[in-house]
Amino acid sequence: MPIRNPAVECLDFEGRGQQQLERLQSTLNRAYKNVPFYRNQLTEHRIDPLQIENLSDLASVPFTDRSHFSEHYPYGLFAVPLRDVVRIHTAQGTSLNPVVSGYTKQDLVVWRELVARALAAAGVSGSDILQIHLEVGLTNWGREYKDGAEAIEASVIPLTNLPPEKQLMILKDYRTSVLVTTASAAAELMDLLFRSNLNPNELALKTLVLVGEAPDPGGLAAQLEERLHVRAWTHYGLSEVPGPALAFECDERSGLHLSEDHFLAEVIDPAGDVAVEPGMPGELVLTTLTTRAFPLIRYRTGDKVRWLEGPCPCGRTLRRMEWLRERSDEAMVIRGVKVYPRQLKALLQRILGHEPQGTRFQIQRTGRRDHLVVWLGVDELIFSDEIKEMEQTSLRLGSEMAMELGIPVRIQFKEPGSFEADGS
Ligand SMILES: [Zn+2]
Repeated sequence: MPIRNPAVECLDFEGRGQQQLERLQSTLNRAYKNVPFYRNQLTEHRIDPLQIENLSDLASVPFTDRSHFSEHYPYGLFAVPLRDVVRIHTAQGTSLNPVVSGYTKQDLVVWRELVARALAAAGVSGSDILQIHLEVGLTNWGREYKDGAEAIEASVIPLTNLPPEKQLMILKDYRTSVLVTTASAAAELMDLLFRSNLNPNELALKTLVLVGEAPDPGGLAAQLEERLHVRAWTHYGLSEVPGPALAFECDERSGLHLSEDHFLAEVIDPAGDVAVEPGMPGELVLTTLTTRAFPLIRYRTGDKVRWLEGPCPCGRTLRRMEWLRERSDEAMVIRGVKVYPRQLKALLQRILGHEPQGTRFQIQRTGRRDHLVVWLGVDELIFSDEIKEMEQTSLRLGSEMAMELGIPVRIQFKEPGSFEADGS
């Protein structure tokens, strides 16, 4: 498989536009024909997919958001029959219904190529030993990085559920040269390394591929580079759909190149729903151009980005974006995993068996480790005058939520009346 494919990555402006238009037309047609939701959306707005003749015509097509995944759970947005789907992924949604996405054989080939392309841009090659260390909540990405890395014939140590101590042992003993992880998990390993009196020079590690978290303006990536003597590269992806490495840093590391041969991107003002001025920050809206099983049309990612103008010295013509940390929705990002307050409330209700009397959710950091803290109002169904019993309830609820979400969760009890008093 060609890893750096100049014919694709360096296509000129006109060629790229033509390629995107043809792929957009075909995506809209297939979605119209095969997905009743998209057909209704287009019909309601009096849009005939056959009359989309310019990329700018897309602006008249209605948006898709996470609520649509929940409404059409599980297979309502699939554009191919299930017999053509060879893989089904589940990710957290905004409600109790997870997001279910499917892949055809061809979709999997495309994803492998996208991940391989992004890894190759970070200099990963067949002589590398690549270790994947991600939260359970990012298991799907672990699988896709494994496939992409195998496609460039790196030796892959796949995602496992091992604790950081064991990950560090593998990193050292197996002579890992590339680590795919989140910046926070990498920082945790770094601290552990120094606490264990290991010298970074004892490691073969040279490359960090950081996923799931927008670059930290405090310079965590730079800190990792300096202290571990490595180079860090950021990849952008969507944890809900369709996967990792949609956009990636090149050698210049000046923004992230978006794989525009497979995605059409818009940056909009989340309040006004129209495109922002070039270079201004806004919400990233994506339309898939080659996805067969689970196409997305004008999907509102909730991620904030801004376009970087001008050509990149690396020669790629794929447009570059800066991935910003703030979001345009209420999602909280914990170790690369996105969670939504509405989803958390619904999950708590299901676990408790009744509606919780007041909730508040926050991210708390202990050392390098972020976790979700759930403040829960104590009602008579939860209350016990035995402290031990309350502690057990809190541990049980926390571990059940952690199992569902794939991130660490701690439950703290609170008087129900005190939620209003502190404005929550
Ligand atoms: Zn570049």
